[in-house]
Amino acid sequence: MPAAPPREPAATARPGMPRPEAPRPGAPSPGTLFVVATPIGNLGDLSPRALETLKSVAAICAEDTRHTRQLLAHHGVEQSLVALHEHNEADLAARIVERLRGGESLALVSDAGTPLVSDPGFRLVRAAREAGLRVSPLPGPCAFVAALSVAGLPSDRFVFEGFLPAKGAARRERLAQLAAEPRTLAFYESAHRIEDALADCVAAFGGERPAVLARELTKLFETVLDGPLATVLAQVQADPNQRKGEFVLLVQGAGEDADAKVAEGRRLYATLSQHLPPSTAARLAAELSGAPRKALYGSGRD
Ligand code: SAM
Repeated sequence: MPAAPPREPAATARPGMPRPEAPRPGAPSPGTLFVVATPIGNLGDLSPRALETLKSVAAICAEDTRHTRQLLAHHGVEQSLVALHEHNEADLAARIVERLRGGESLALVSDAGTPLVSDPGFRLVRAAREAGLRVSPLPGPCAFVAALSVAGLPSDRFVFEGFLPAKGAARRERLAQLAAEPRTLAFYESAHRIEDALADCVAAFGGERPAVLARELTKLFETVLDGPLATVLAQVQADPNQRKGEFVLLVQGAGEDADAKVAEGRRLYATLSQHLPPSTAARLAAELSGAPRKALYGSGRD
Protein backbone atom coordinates (compact mmCIF):
# COMPACT_ATOMS: atom_id res chain seq x y z
CA MET A 1 0.00 0.00 0.00
CA PRO A 2 1.20 3.52 -0.59
CA ALA A 3 1.31 4.17 3.16
CA ALA A 4 4.37 1.95 3.42
CA PRO A 5 6.16 2.13 0.07
CA PRO A 6 9.17 -0.14 -0.32
CA ARG A 7 12.27 1.74 0.73
CA GLU A 8 14.39 1.47 -2.38
CA PRO A 9 17.47 3.65 -2.49
CA ALA A 10 16.53 7.12 -3.70
CA ALA A 11 17.18 7.60 -7.41
CA THR A 12 20.52 9.17 -8.21
CA ALA A 13 20.53 12.81 -9.25
CA ARG A 14 20.46 13.68 -12.94
CA PRO A 15 23.77 14.18 -14.73
CA GLY A 16 25.14 17.58 -13.90
CA MET A 17 23.01 17.90 -10.76
CA PRO A 18 24.54 17.81 -7.26
CA ARG A 19 24.25 14.39 -5.64
CA PRO A 20 21.82 14.26 -2.72
CA GLU A 21 23.54 13.99 0.63
CA ALA A 22 23.59 10.50 2.15
CA PRO A 23 21.14 10.34 5.08
CA ARG A 24 22.87 10.81 8.44
CA PRO A 25 22.82 7.77 10.75
CA GLY A 26 19.63 7.89 12.80
CA ALA A 27 17.98 10.41 10.43
CA PRO A 28 14.44 9.43 9.30
CA SER A 29 14.11 7.85 5.85
CA PRO A 30 12.87 10.46 3.42
CA GLY A 31 9.20 10.43 2.45
CA THR A 32 7.68 10.03 -1.00
CA LEU A 33 5.90 12.64 -3.08
CA PHE A 34 2.85 10.92 -4.62
CA VAL A 35 1.50 12.67 -7.73
CA VAL A 36 -2.18 11.76 -7.75
CA ALA A 37 -4.60 12.11 -10.68
CA THR A 38 -8.15 13.06 -9.67
CA PRO A 39 -11.47 13.00 -11.60
CA ILE A 40 -12.17 15.40 -14.52
CA GLY A 41 -15.89 15.41 -13.70
CA ASN A 42 -17.24 12.14 -12.38
CA LEU A 43 -16.14 11.82 -8.75
CA GLY A 44 -16.36 8.04 -9.02
CA ASP A 45 -13.26 8.13 -11.24
CA LEU A 46 -10.88 8.42 -8.28
CA SER A 47 -9.03 5.09 -8.14
CA PRO A 48 -9.08 3.03 -4.91
CA ARG A 49 -5.28 3.26 -4.70
CA ALA A 50 -5.43 7.06 -5.17
CA LEU A 51 -7.98 7.29 -2.35
CA GLU A 52 -5.85 5.15 -0.01
CA THR A 53 -2.83 7.29 -0.80
CA LEU A 54 -4.70 10.55 -0.13
CA LYS A 55 -5.80 9.14 3.25
CA SER A 56 -2.37 7.88 4.24
CA VAL A 57 -0.08 10.83 3.50
CA ALA A 58 0.84 13.50 6.05
CA ALA A 59 -0.73 16.24 3.88
CA ILE A 60 -2.00 16.94 0.38
CA CYS A 61 -0.64 19.81 -1.72
CA ALA A 62 -3.70 21.01 -3.63
CA GLU A 63 -4.18 23.64 -6.35
CA ASP A 64 -7.43 24.86 -4.76
CA THR A 65 -7.99 23.54 -1.25
CA ARG A 66 -11.77 24.19 -1.35
CA HIS A 67 -12.09 22.15 -4.52
CA THR A 68 -10.04 19.24 -3.15
CA ARG A 69 -11.93 19.36 0.16
CA GLN A 70 -15.15 18.69 -1.80
CA LEU A 71 -13.60 15.66 -3.48
CA LEU A 72 -12.34 14.36 -0.13
CA ALA A 73 -15.70 15.00 1.55
CA HIS A 74 -17.42 13.00 -1.20
CA HIS A 75 -15.20 10.06 -0.18
CA GLY A 76 -15.57 10.74 3.57
CA VAL A 77 -11.93 11.77 4.00
CA GLU A 78 -10.52 14.53 6.21
CA GLN A 79 -6.96 15.54 5.48
CA SER A 80 -4.54 18.34 6.05
CA LEU A 81 -4.26 20.47 2.88
CA VAL A 82 -1.54 22.85 1.71
CA ALA A 83 -2.44 25.31 -1.08
CA LEU A 84 0.08 24.98 -3.91
CA HIS A 85 -0.73 26.94 -7.05
CA GLU A 86 1.11 28.71 -9.85
CA HIS A 87 1.58 31.87 -7.75
CA ASN A 88 3.29 30.26 -4.73
CA GLU A 89 4.74 27.03 -6.11
CA ALA A 90 8.25 28.38 -6.67
CA ASP A 91 8.46 29.64 -3.04
CA LEU A 92 6.76 26.64 -1.46
CA ALA A 93 8.67 23.89 -3.27
CA ALA A 94 11.76 24.16 -1.02
CA ARG A 95 9.65 23.88 2.17
CA ILE A 96 7.79 20.85 0.84
CA VAL A 97 11.09 19.22 -0.10
CA GLU A 98 12.24 19.79 3.50
CA ARG A 99 9.14 18.01 4.81
CA LEU A 100 9.81 15.07 2.47
CA ARG A 101 13.44 14.96 3.58
CA GLY A 102 12.22 14.93 7.16
CA GLY A 103 10.36 11.68 6.52
CA GLU A 104 6.81 12.83 5.70
CA SER A 105 5.11 11.42 2.60
CA LEU A 106 2.95 13.97 0.79
CA ALA A 107 0.52 13.95 -2.14
CA LEU A 108 0.17 16.46 -4.96
CA VAL A 109 -3.20 16.95 -6.67
CA SER A 110 -4.64 19.58 -9.01
CA ASP A 111 -8.28 20.62 -9.40
CA ALA A 112 -8.95 17.97 -12.03
CA GLY A 113 -7.07 15.29 -13.91
CA THR A 114 -3.35 14.74 -13.85
CA PRO A 115 -1.18 17.33 -12.06
CA LEU A 116 1.43 19.07 -14.27
CA VAL A 117 -0.75 18.58 -17.40
CA SER A 118 -1.74 22.24 -17.99
CA ASP A 119 -1.70 22.43 -14.18
CA PRO A 120 0.78 23.31 -11.40
CA GLY A 121 3.33 20.86 -10.02
CA PHE A 122 6.28 20.94 -12.42
CA ARG A 123 8.50 23.02 -10.13
CA LEU A 124 7.75 20.89 -7.08
CA VAL A 125 8.35 17.60 -8.91
CA ARG A 126 11.61 18.90 -10.34
CA ALA A 127 12.76 20.15 -6.93
CA ALA A 128 11.92 16.79 -5.31
CA ARG A 129 13.76 14.85 -8.03
CA GLU A 130 16.76 17.14 -7.84
CA ALA A 131 16.86 16.45 -4.10
CA GLY A 132 17.02 12.72 -4.91
CA LEU A 133 13.61 12.07 -3.36
CA ARG A 134 11.17 9.43 -4.51
CA VAL A 135 8.35 10.79 -6.69
CA SER A 136 5.69 8.21 -7.49
CA PRO A 137 2.65 8.54 -9.81
CA LEU A 138 -0.91 7.48 -9.07
CA PRO A 139 -2.13 7.58 -12.68
CA GLY A 140 -5.71 8.31 -13.63
CA PRO A 141 -7.94 10.76 -15.52
CA CYS A 142 -6.52 13.19 -18.04
CA ALA A 143 -8.91 15.10 -20.31
CA PHE A 144 -6.97 14.96 -23.57
CA VAL A 145 -6.15 11.25 -23.18
CA ALA A 146 -9.84 10.56 -22.47
CA ALA A 147 -10.81 12.53 -25.60
CA LEU A 148 -8.21 10.76 -27.74
CA SER A 149 -9.45 7.39 -26.52
CA VAL A 150 -12.93 7.99 -27.99
CA ALA A 151 -12.13 10.25 -30.97
CA GLY A 152 -11.40 7.72 -33.70
CA LEU A 153 -8.59 9.96 -34.98
CA PRO A 154 -5.08 8.56 -35.49
CA SER A 155 -3.72 8.00 -31.98
CA ASP A 156 -0.38 6.33 -32.69
CA ARG A 157 1.36 9.72 -32.74
CA PHE A 158 -0.10 12.94 -31.36
CA VAL A 159 0.97 16.35 -30.04
CA PHE A 160 -0.50 17.87 -26.90
CA GLU A 161 -0.52 21.66 -27.32
CA GLY A 162 -2.37 22.57 -24.11
CA PHE A 163 -4.20 25.91 -24.23
CA LEU A 164 -3.83 28.06 -27.34
CA PRO A 165 -2.85 31.71 -26.76
CA ALA A 166 -5.84 33.77 -25.57
CA LYS A 167 -5.22 36.69 -27.95
CA GLY A 168 -6.44 36.21 -31.53
CA ALA A 169 -3.26 37.23 -33.37
CA ALA A 170 -1.00 35.02 -31.22
CA ARG A 171 -3.46 32.11 -31.53
CA ARG A 172 -3.53 32.37 -35.33
CA GLU A 173 0.25 32.51 -35.46
CA ARG A 174 0.52 29.35 -33.30
CA LEU A 175 -2.02 27.55 -35.50
CA ALA A 176 -0.19 28.63 -38.66
CA GLN A 177 2.99 27.06 -37.23
CA LEU A 178 1.07 23.80 -36.70
CA ALA A 179 -0.63 23.67 -40.11
CA ALA A 180 1.83 21.16 -41.61
CA GLU A 181 2.11 19.03 -38.44
CA PRO A 182 1.38 15.41 -39.48
CA ARG A 183 0.47 14.14 -35.96
CA THR A 184 -2.98 14.49 -34.39
CA LEU A 185 -3.20 17.80 -32.50
CA ALA A 186 -4.77 18.06 -29.03
CA PHE A 187 -5.84 21.41 -27.53
CA TYR A 188 -7.56 22.47 -24.32
CA GLU A 189 -10.11 25.26 -24.71
CA SER A 190 -12.51 27.23 -22.54
CA ALA A 191 -16.17 27.98 -23.20
CA HIS A 192 -15.68 31.66 -23.99
CA ARG A 193 -13.02 31.04 -26.64
CA ILE A 194 -14.16 27.79 -28.26
CA GLU A 195 -15.99 29.41 -31.18
CA ASP A 196 -13.10 31.75 -32.09
CA ALA A 197 -10.57 28.94 -31.70
CA LEU A 198 -12.55 26.68 -34.04
CA ALA A 199 -12.91 29.48 -36.61
CA ASP A 200 -9.15 30.06 -36.46
CA CYS A 201 -8.53 26.32 -36.91
CA VAL A 202 -10.72 26.34 -40.04
CA ALA A 203 -8.68 29.24 -41.42
CA ALA A 204 -5.32 27.64 -40.58
CA PHE A 205 -5.98 23.98 -41.43
CA GLY A 206 -8.86 24.19 -43.92
CA GLY A 207 -12.51 23.37 -43.21
CA GLU A 208 -12.17 19.81 -44.53
CA ARG A 209 -9.66 18.64 -41.89
CA PRO A 210 -11.24 15.92 -39.66
CA ALA A 211 -11.72 17.03 -36.05
CA VAL A 212 -13.34 15.96 -32.78
CA LEU A 213 -14.68 18.29 -30.11
CA ALA A 214 -15.05 16.52 -26.75
CA ARG A 215 -17.13 18.50 -24.24
CA GLU A 216 -17.83 17.84 -20.54
CA LEU A 217 -16.27 14.37 -20.59
CA THR A 218 -17.53 12.06 -17.81
CA LYS A 219 -20.19 14.65 -16.85
CA LEU A 220 -23.94 14.88 -17.38
CA PHE A 221 -23.72 16.76 -20.69
CA GLU A 222 -20.85 14.81 -22.21
CA THR A 223 -20.85 15.39 -25.99
CA VAL A 224 -18.38 14.26 -28.64
CA LEU A 225 -18.85 16.02 -31.99
CA ASP A 226 -16.90 14.75 -34.96
CA GLY A 227 -16.61 15.69 -38.62
CA PRO A 228 -14.75 18.14 -40.84
CA LEU A 229 -13.63 21.23 -38.90
CA ALA A 230 -16.12 23.47 -40.76
CA THR A 231 -19.02 21.19 -39.77
CA VAL A 232 -17.94 21.07 -36.12
CA LEU A 233 -17.72 24.88 -36.13
CA ALA A 234 -21.20 25.16 -37.70
CA GLN A 235 -22.66 22.87 -34.99
CA VAL A 236 -21.09 24.96 -32.24
CA GLN A 237 -22.32 28.18 -33.83
CA ALA A 238 -25.85 26.84 -34.26
CA ASP A 239 -26.35 25.55 -30.71
CA PRO A 240 -25.45 27.69 -27.66
CA ASN A 241 -25.40 24.55 -25.49
CA GLN A 242 -22.41 23.33 -27.51
CA ARG A 243 -20.47 26.37 -26.31
CA LYS A 244 -20.89 25.54 -22.60
CA GLY A 245 -18.52 23.63 -20.36
CA GLU A 246 -14.98 22.34 -20.79
CA PHE A 247 -13.50 21.27 -24.11
CA VAL A 248 -10.80 19.18 -25.69
CA LEU A 249 -10.33 19.87 -29.40
CA LEU A 250 -8.57 17.23 -31.46
CA VAL A 251 -7.58 17.90 -35.07
CA GLN A 252 -6.21 15.27 -37.41
CA GLY A 253 -2.69 16.00 -38.62
CA ALA A 254 -1.89 17.20 -42.12
CA GLY A 255 -1.88 14.42 -44.72
CA GLU A 256 1.40 13.35 -46.26
CA ASP A 257 1.27 15.10 -49.59
CA ALA A 258 -1.41 17.49 -50.81
CA ASP A 259 -2.57 18.39 -47.32
CA ALA A 260 0.95 19.11 -46.21
CA LYS A 261 1.55 21.44 -49.18
CA VAL A 262 -1.66 23.36 -48.51
CA ALA A 263 -0.88 23.52 -44.81
CA GLU A 264 2.62 24.83 -45.49
CA GLY A 265 1.22 27.31 -48.03
CA ARG A 266 -1.29 28.58 -45.46
CA ARG A 267 1.46 28.94 -42.87
CA LEU A 268 3.55 30.98 -45.32
CA TYR A 269 0.54 33.03 -46.41
CA ALA A 270 -0.33 33.88 -42.79
CA THR A 271 3.15 35.34 -42.27
CA LEU A 272 3.64 36.96 -45.68
CA SER A 273 0.21 38.61 -45.72
CA GLN A 274 1.20 40.62 -42.64
CA HIS A 275 3.82 42.41 -44.76
CA LEU A 276 2.57 42.17 -48.38
CA PRO A 277 -0.71 42.72 -50.23
CA PRO A 278 -2.86 39.53 -50.03
CA SER A 279 -2.53 38.66 -53.75
CA THR A 280 1.29 38.94 -53.68
CA ALA A 281 1.46 36.97 -50.41
CA ALA A 282 -0.71 34.20 -51.91
CA ARG A 283 1.38 34.03 -55.12
CA LEU A 284 4.64 33.75 -53.18
CA ALA A 285 3.22 31.25 -50.67
CA ALA A 286 1.91 29.09 -53.56
CA GLU A 287 5.26 29.19 -55.35
CA LEU A 288 7.24 28.30 -52.22
CA SER A 289 4.91 25.54 -51.00
CA GLY A 290 3.71 24.00 -54.28
CA ALA A 291 0.08 24.38 -53.11
CA PRO A 292 -2.58 25.77 -55.48
CA ARG A 293 -2.93 29.54 -55.06
CA LYS A 294 -6.70 29.49 -54.67
CA ALA A 295 -6.40 27.17 -51.65
CA LEU A 296 -4.37 29.88 -49.88
CA TYR A 297 -5.82 33.21 -50.87
CA GLY A 298 -7.77 34.68 -47.96
CA SER A 299 -6.91 31.74 -45.66
CA GLY A 300 -5.37 34.04 -43.04
CA ARG A 301 -7.75 36.27 -41.08
CA ASP A 302 -5.90 39.51 -40.76
N1 SAM B 1 -4.82 18.49 -15.54
C1 SAM B 1 -6.00 18.36 -16.37
C2 SAM B 1 -5.93 17.08 -17.18
O1 SAM B 1 -5.22 16.15 -16.79
O2 SAM B 1 -6.61 16.98 -18.19
C3 SAM B 1 -6.20 19.58 -17.23
C4 SAM B 1 -6.31 20.87 -16.45
S1 SAM B 1 -6.61 22.26 -17.45
C5 SAM B 1 -6.40 23.56 -16.28
C6 SAM B 1 -8.35 22.28 -17.64
C7 SAM B 1 -8.77 22.05 -19.09
O3 SAM B 1 -8.82 20.66 -19.36
C8 SAM B 1 -10.17 22.56 -19.39
O4 SAM B 1 -10.16 23.95 -19.70
C9 SAM B 1 -10.56 21.72 -20.59
O5 SAM B 1 -9.95 22.22 -21.76
C10 SAM B 1 -9.91 20.38 -20.21
N2 SAM B 1 -10.87 19.56 -19.47
C11 SAM B 1 -10.86 19.31 -18.15
N3 SAM B 1 -11.90 18.53 -17.80
C12 SAM B 1 -12.58 18.27 -18.95
C13 SAM B 1 -13.75 17.54 -19.26
N4 SAM B 1 -14.44 16.91 -18.31
N5 SAM B 1 -14.16 17.49 -20.55
C14 SAM B 1 -13.47 18.13 -21.52
N6 SAM B 1 -12.37 18.85 -21.27
C15 SAM B 1 -11.92 18.93 -20.01
